[in-house]
Amino acid sequence: MEDEKNKLNQEPNSIEDGSNPKESIDRRDFLKKASLATIGGISLPFISFNSLKAQEDKDDEDEDTKKDNKEAEPESKNEDSSGSLATRDLGKLGKVSVITFGGNLITDSNVIKSALNMGVTCIDTAPGYYGGQSEETIGKFLKQNKDARKKIILSTKFKIDDEDPAYGGDENKMFSSLEKSLKRLNTDYVDIVYVHGVGGIHRVTNDKLHAAFDKAKKKGMVKHLGITCFNGDMKAVIKKAVEDGRFDVIQFYYNYIRRNDKYESKFFDYDKVISKAKEKKIGIIASEPFAGGFDVTKPDFKGKDFRGASIRWILKNENISSVSVPIRNYNELEQYVKAVSGGGSNDEGALSSYQKAVTEQWKHSYCRACDVCLPVCIFNVAVPDILRYRAQFENFGMEKKAILSYKALIDQNQAVYCETCSEPCKHVCPFGVDIKPSLVQAHKLLTL
Ligand code: SF4
Ligand code: SF4
Repeated sequence: MEDEKNKLNQEPNSIEDGSNPKESIDRRDFLKKASLATIGGISLPFISFNSLKAQEDKDDEDEDTKKDNKEAEPESKNEDSSGSLATRDLGKLGKVSVITFGGNLITDSNVIKSALNMGVTCIDTAPGYYGGQSEETIGKFLKQNKDARKKIILSTKFKIDDEDPAYGGDENKMFSSLEKSLKRLNTDYVDIVYVHGVGGIHRVTNDKLHAAFDKAKKKGMVKHLGITCFNGDMKAVIKKAVEDGRFDVIQFYYNYIRRNDKYESKFFDYDKVISKAKEKKIGIIASEPFAGGFDVTKPDFKGKDFRGASIRWILKNENISSVSVPIRNYNELEQYVKAVSGGGSNDEGALSSYQKAVTEQWKHSYCRACDVCLPVCIFNVAVPDILRYRAQFENFGMEKKAILSYKALIDQNQAVYCETCSEPCKHVCPFGVDIKPSLVQAHKLLTL
């Protein structure tokens, strides 16, 4: 029973990646007291795919590697292909494949084996992904493939203490969460442990977090500390983590759509902070490459490889070490490996179609999880979580998961009061989301 409850409480906080929904609930308490003034960014200069490839070829040193890259394209979804993805420096950790296996949706250890054969060298998971099944699946693979452990960069996350109103976590609980992760993963150590889904800078410098990490590192359970951020005060968190110097890897929400949002184009220089991180030997992993995602199989996108284009667009920034892509099956694995091994003839078309759809068709329902509306809601409704579950239901074929995630939100964080609410959240969303109607619809959909 307790396990079942934990499973429900540990649904991912994002379609592509993320944290416990309860984190967002606690985060609201923080946000109500915090400033809202840190949303912004500027555009990256356009670098051609050819110049990116030339740089990677240079980094990859020799002709043999280039040959391997070509051979990385899998022949069949059921056959493991031998090959090697391009690699880049992940700060102090050394080389990493440009694709990181986002393990949040994985339940088949054979897919992991194929990924390694295709040259993927980095696997990312978390205790809450699929209620622990993600770690167990990776653990099953490592048990059956003992030689693989030293060839990969394996990361997991500290499980956040949901009961802690200060959102700081408990040192002993964080340490013990890592112990449990190692057991599920069938390994003695992970290369990176991330503090997960950080939406406020108070968590970057949290003493308990650093004490838990230091203790685990001394015991040989982990080598490097990382931080992941997707929403809330994300930009301030990234900047603070770079300045802080104790984080070796930063994983954050970075994609074409978000970077090209008008609202994102102010106040924050992504290029500058990413290049500062590189100077300090901090690895950068881009997360949520598909921007939460809508159904790209619709007629508007016919023949346009939005997902491949998105990955290639991110990798044009050579200071980004790797892109964490959620991989569920062989088809997706093939698609993403191919995306960085070739393609790109109509990337601009695919990206601008998607951008257009977001700004025109979905502008009233596409939540960027900026959290700006949270302090305004008089009923503590978990707006970004609920809109994400709705997107999972409608666009990702994840109906059951979306309903369970919604159910796991305690009553007052569901959208039960929206229908009769006086709507103080109207016009609050900087991205133009019609919050109340979107939530009323989401509530109906998710409580079928
Ligand atoms: S609805 Fe708008 S304001 Fe609220 S979290 Fe989503 S993007 Fe931000
Ligand atoms: S409409 Fe819903 S989200 Fe908006 S303030 Fe009311 S309860 Fe909160």
